[in-house]
Amino acid sequence: MLIDKYNREIDYLRISVTQRCNFRCQYCMPEKPFEWTPKEDLLTYEEMFKFIKISIDNGIKKIRITGGEPLVRDDLYKLIEMISSYKHDIDLALTTNGYLLKQQIPKLKKAGLKRVNISIDSLEKETFGYLTKKDVLSKVLEGIDLAINSGIKVKLNSVILKNINENEIINLYNFAKNKNIQIRYIEYMENENAYSNLKTLSSKEILKTIKNITNIKEVDSKVNSAAKIYEDEDGYCFGIIEPYDDSFCKTCNRIRLSANGDLIPCLYYEDSSNIKNSLEDDKKIVNIIKEVIAKRPEKNKWSYSNKLEKVEKEISSRAFYFTGG
Ligand code: SAM
Ligand code: SF4
Repeated sequence: MLIDKYNREIDYLRISVTQRCNFRCQYCMPEKPFEWTPKEDLLTYEEMFKFIKISIDNGIKKIRITGGEPLVRDDLYKLIEMISSYKHDIDLALTTNGYLLKQQIPKLKKAGLKRVNISIDSLEKETFGYLTKKDVLSKVLEGIDLAINSGIKVKLNSVILKNINENEIINLYNFAKNKNIQIRYIEYMENENAYSNLKTLSSKEILKTIKNITNIKEVDSKVNSAAKIYEDEDGYCFGIIEPYDDSFCKTCNRIRLSANGDLIPCLYYEDSSNIKNSLEDDKKIVNIIKEVIAKRPEKNKWSYSNKLEKVEKEISSRAFYFTGG
């Protein structure tokens, strides 16, 4: 079992399989980064799998494949297959922008993928194009339906931004509710790679809007879920991810592996240790995992910024397309 110094059990590994992406979301990768990691520095699937096996043997129970956009690697099903044949009951999930799901969903399902979170911030063609710099809303909608019909468990992720898509909270809500899938609204996390004019809508403001159409109550969220879960008067459940709230870090159970092998203790801070050159030695890998877990901070600074207004404003330099979010 892996436990950090704040007594949080770490049983969740997120793997960013690529930094590349076919979208340019304003809050993540609005411009193509000046430099990508050279190909020779990236982990191969075999190297990722070696690390994954050791992680599972040491207490990891849930794995999420993310990116960049993970489906730009059209052989992703091979990695999914490797993981699920090593441990068929592992909680194995994917986060994607949905654009390439149509081509890949049958192979991913066959390979053992159990759950997929699809990011969609707008149901309006223009806003979708403005936010992502890609005019492909209809493809993403098609991907969502195909994923649902395949029997894979689907959730939606929506980052809500002031003056951009805040008017769509209810549309997105009804869209997800009608399809009987959970939507999780995400507060925008400021970072140096995003456009600087973006402003998040707070969870309070999101809840206030939803309360205009239904009564809601908070329900007991799954321990260690990043989202607070609410239930409406029809029993439909939705979530809100609140990085600006203390509870986000209190229940954080995850470490992150980047496509170049950086093992990252926290989404906010620059800290990491690279595993690529230690993969020949299982003991070294276990030590790196333990070292990284020992370095996990108590909290990110998004939560500080809520309370300590006078503290000099500091912005995370971590890129979401690098850490995988
Ligand atoms: N490309 C995939 C996607 O968009 O779903 C996977 C990678 S993306 C980095 C993972 C998640 O992080 C997405 O749901 C995205 O909306 C979210 N995300 C990215 N940048 C963010 C930010 N600055 N604040 C909050 N969420 C962010
Ligand atoms: Fe790409 Fe996902 Fe980042 Fe958007 S949020 S730019 S889809 S990695």
